[in-house]
Amino acid sequence: MMASSSVCNPSLPIHHHHNPSAANTTASVFAGTGGGSMVTAKKKVAVIGAGAAGLVAARELEREGHRVVVFERGEKAGGTWVYDPSTETDPLGIDPCRKVVHSSLYRSLRTNLPREIMGFLDFPFSIKEGRDLRRFPGYQEVELYLDDFAAESDVLKAIRFRTEVFHVGMMEGGKWVVKSRRDFGEDVAVDVNEIYDGVVVCSGHYAEPRIAEVPGVERWPGEQIHSHNYRIPEPFQDKVVIVIGSSESAADISREISKVAKEVHVSSRSALDRFGKKFYGHENMWLHSMIQGTHEDGTVVFQDGTSVIANVILHCTGYKYHFPFLETNGAVTVDDNRVGPLYKHVFPPSLGPWLSFVGLPWKTIPFPMMELQCKWVAGALSERIALPSEEEMMKDVEAFYSRIAAMGYPKHYTHNISGCQFEYFDWLATECGYPKGEEWRKEMYFANTRNKTENPDTYREEWEDHDLISQAHEEFSRLKQQHSVKNM
Ligand code: FAD
Repeated sequence: MMASSSVCNPSLPIHHHHNPSAANTTASVFAGTGGGSMVTAKKKVAVIGAGAAGLVAARELEREGHRVVVFERGEKAGGTWVYDPSTETDPLGIDPCRKVVHSSLYRSLRTNLPREIMGFLDFPFSIKEGRDLRRFPGYQEVELYLDDFAAESDVLKAIRFRTEVFHVGMMEGGKWVVKSRRDFGEDVAVDVNEIYDGVVVCSGHYAEPRIAEVPGVERWPGEQIHSHNYRIPEPFQDKVVIVIGSSESAADISREISKVAKEVHVSSRSALDRFGKKFYGHENMWLHSMIQGTHEDGTVVFQDGTSVIANVILHCTGYKYHFPFLETNGAVTVDDNRVGPLYKHVFPPSLGPWLSFVGLPWKTIPFPMMELQCKWVAGALSERIALPSEEEMMKDVEAFYSRIAAMGYPKHYTHNISGCQFEYFDWLATECGYPKGEEWRKEMYFANTRNKTENPDTYREEWEDHDLISQAHEEFSRLKQQHSVKNM
């Protein structure tokens, strides 16, 4: 896990050079959210995906005056938060021919962030009568919240459902061709080729599993599954289960399985001093080091010298960034889970602002981050916000990569912003002329992180940051008042 030190020093100067514009710019006057009017250049923009990122991208782009089409291969908006009880044909999720199931949610999933900080900055994730009132609600409540957000922002009309983008490519003159296939059911599909000024990639990054290398597993007789295809604990009844990983999903899933399984053995890279010990309060759950080897008789041997005969290995080992539709002639690549080069995780220096990625950073608070990234993208596309020159952006990216290397972090930590997320948020906000984040948000994030680490079994029910909750509610009522005044 990354220490608190920061690999991304976002406190860099703000540049205001002008980027050469692509053609097709119709000037229009737009009353911005700040209340003033501004001249923007309208662009035709394709957004890929209608999860939280795609929805807020559509809202910000439309606010800026752009013409937006959102492509969504699913039947409804919400992305990850639309639970799908079905799983993939390959439980490990590595067969390239498998039918992809997008969502990785399990049935018992509740948020791991308190709702006060999880919501978009100007659309709080408030408690609604008759719904899930809990501070860490179940996934259905997040889906309903995103439905409310989509309705309130009036972006549903921009979404083409059941429409998968299968190719995004560059054209001469800086435009983009977007090829999509609309599924009308019963084997009827229609392909459409269109040209756009800009493309915003909001396709998510929790659908392409990353698997742990387990020595000897080819001959090991047990079952293997990735958490992407985990839904309910019942199939693990009376089994001996190895859970690999120490992520949030590993913590939740191992605890849930332990209620029905015979034994659960969590194999983790971290927490060295606790290897071989039982989890506090769990009689049938042990922590181990990494797996050293597996054998034909079902034995799994850990590096700490212990071994068990197991039935299942459950990989909670994360996901890969995956953009099978994107063709940039090498301008953007994915190398050991580094999507790059990207200026501040969003724009490829040679292609910004015409191509952008929203939502890549992890170990963060995703919704507000994506909202700020989208404000930046929308403003950069209309040239209201200037990007630095390609050379300057590239220099910044290279310096960032050198810092990561110097700190000894692997490339696949590039988008882990746990050490600097609030600086990153503030940097984005400043770039967009938006206020910096309130102090209570940061304090609440850290209070929750501490509580989760110290009390993994109870953090969703018991907490001590009551004063921060009051501050949050004060801010939300101020927002509500402003909103009703604006709409008078
Ligand atoms: P997604 O929600 O994945 O949406 C991407 C959309 O793009 C999907 O609808 C997909 O169908 C569509 N798409 C992809 N490719 C194409 C294509 N080629 N053509 C057309 N459409 C396409 N975040 C929190 O804030 N709090 C939590 O408690 C929390 N818990 C989580 C638990 C789990 C198990 C997981 C996996 C994630 C969790 N997250 C949580 C993070 C969560 O992913 C984000 O909150 C957010 O949903 C990401 O939104 P997104 O729009 O970037 O991606």
